[in-house]
Parts: sequence; C-alpha cells; structure tokens
Amino acid sequence: MANKVLVLGEVRDGVLRNVSFEAIAAAKQIADGAEVVGVLLGDSVTSLASELIAYGADRVVTVEHPHLKSYTSDGFSQAFLAVYEEEKPEAIVFGHTSLGKDLSPKIASKLQSGLISDVTEIEGSGEGALFIRPIYSGKAFEKVKIKDGIVFVTIRPNNIAPLEKDASRTGEVATLAVDIQNLRTIIKEVVRKASTGVDLSEAKVVVAGGRGVKSAEGFEPLQQLADVLGGAVGASRGACDADYCDYSLQIGQTGKVVTPDLYIACGISGAIQHLAGMSNSKVIVAINKDPEANIFKVADYGIVGDLFEVVPMLVEEFKAL
Ligand code: FAD
Repeated sequence: MANKVLVLGEVRDGVLRNVSFEAIAAAKQIADGAEVVGVLLGDSVTSLASELIAYGADRVVTVEHPHLKSYTSDGFSQAFLAVYEEEKPEAIVFGHTSLGKDLSPKIASKLQSGLISDVTEIEGSGEGALFIRPIYSGKAFEKVKIKDGIVFVTIRPNNIAPLEKDASRTGEVATLAVDIQNLRTIIKEVVRKASTGVDLSEAKVVVAGGRGVKSAEGFEPLQQLADVLGGAVGASRGACDADYCDYSLQIGQTGKVVTPDLYIACGISGAIQHLAGMSNSKVIVAINKDPEANIFKVADYGIVGDLFEVVPMLVEEFKAL
C-alpha cells in the first residue's frame, strides 16, 4: 500500500476536467485506504479544491502563480515537483490527456521513476495493483506492475468510473508558495479555434466523419447529430488531409484516442490507424455504403447506406424522442 497518492487535477477554462475525478477513483484503488491528495496548479484554482474533495480526495494542495495561468511544461513541472518534495508520495496519478502526456515523462525523468501510461483499467488494489494498458495500437493489452519506486500512472479518459460526488465531504485545502522561475516559455495569449463546447477526448458520444463526407459542408449533418446526442464531432485523417475539417478533430494512431459510450463512424473505411484511436469505444455504429468496409469488423451495429440519407434520418428520429 502506498503511503499516499498524489493526483493532478486538470483545469480548463476555470473548470475541472472529468478525467480529474476518474484519476481520483484510480488513486483510491491504488491507495487502498491510504491518503489521496489532490493537486491543483494554476493562477486561480483554489476555489475548485472542494470539488476534488467531493469526488474523493482527502485533502488538496494548490499552487497559484501568474505563470501557471496557461500550461507550460517548465512551469507545471516546477510547481508539481515542489508539491512532490513536500508530500513525498509513493504513487502519482495523472490523466492521459495532452497535458498529462507532456508533463508525466518530464516528472518521471526528474524523479527517476517508472511511468505506466495510458492505463485503461486497474486490477486489484494497493501493492497488488496491476495496470492494464493497450499495446500495438490497441490490438492487445498488457498488465504492468512497477516493482519498486514510485508508482506513476496516467489514466485514459472515460475508462475508469469516477466515484459518486458527495458535496458533504470535507478535507484540508493548503496553498504552497512556489517561486516559479527560469521559464523558457511564457504563454502570452491563447487563441482558440471555435468549438461546440463538448471536449472530444471526454465526449460520451462521438460522431466521426471520414473521406466519405466529401466536403466541409458535408460535416453539417454530423454536427447536427452530435448536437442532438450531446456529443462531439471527430474525423479520420482522410477527412483532415482533404481539408474537410481541422486536425484537432483527428482520431487515431496519430490523432486523439477516444473511448466514448457511443462512436458513430460515418464514411470511414476503418484503416488500422483509425481503429487505434476508437476501437475501445463501448458501442460502435458504422455507416458506410461499402458492405465490405473494414469498419464493419469492429462495429456493433452496421448500416450499409449513404450517410447523407442515414444521418439526417437519425437526427430526426433522435429529435423526436
Ligand atoms: P477512406 O479510406 O477513403 O474511406 C472512405 C469511406 O467512405 C469508404 O469506406 C467509402 O465506402 C465510404 N463512403 C464514401 N461515400 C460514402 C457515403 N456517401 N456514405 C457512406 N459511406 C461512404 N488515419 C486516421 O483516421 N487516424 C490516424 O491517426 C491516422 N494515422 C496514420 C498514421 C500513419 C503513419 C499512416 C501511414 C496513416 C494514418 N492514417 C490515419 C491514415 C489511414 O491509413 C487512412 O488513410 C485513413 O484513416 C482513411 O480515412 P477514411 O476512412 O476517411 O477514408
């Protein structure tokens, strides 16, 4: 059993991302009764500590500094390592997000620890915990254990269920003063592309389009379907390469990895590199006019047909519910 587990809470636009609560649930399992300490880094994050506690953190340490307003690996690693030095935990959990993927190897190398990344499931608890992670682009899974040293893991969003929120839980919130200095990068301004608001990596429903969508305008019915289902739009690299949509929507080996409850693939052939990013979705629906398309091999439900007929029909049906 670890003496305590540190969990990095991830904040975007002043809101804690869901993966933070999933990371607390993972930390609880690793801690097996030991203390779970949430860590919040930012310029104004202390007010979010109570939410981490409501989801299971025993206490929270925050570091606030103007240089932590936007993520930089230098700034966040200095702040996190300062908390580490104070707390000396035996286990650390991050989300396997863009931030977690960037920060965790840097912290692991500073601590000379191992790192088990992209964990989708934890078997057992405490010292006996085994971490399950996909390998070979999701074609197989391996079970990994760290023999000695710090147990440092990143967990894939949408795979480990968060604990039920209990707003009556209480816990200490402390702020650690850290002098963030010698930054090689300072973010002056963040210019965002317009987005519909649902974060693709954390969406429960993803409606993805491929080259079969044929144009940027062709994505409109997909966006309508995503809206009516409260989901997000994604894409294959084929669609991104053809300039039908932005690369930030790309799902796959060289794009985002998503594990929604429902993945609707529209006009996507199902190349192995695409499957690497979505084959672990809980339910996969494929719409393709080619009955031989590879995507049908991983689909739970297949619709052989023209997406421009099928998708508007689905929109109308779901609207009517
Ligand atoms: P296509 O393969 O052209 O398929 C289009 C599909 O649309 C066809 O099956 C067709 O039957 C169907 N269709 C056409 N019209 C309609 C219609 N009206 N209604 C219904 N169906 C229709 N790809 C990724 O997606 N993500 C990655 O991260 C990724 N990384 C890669 C990394 C490397 C190193 C390499 C080499 C490739 C990578 N690729 C990736 C590319 C991948 O190999 C495929 O080329 C790509 O996924 C194909 O995209 P697609 O399925 O949209 O297009």
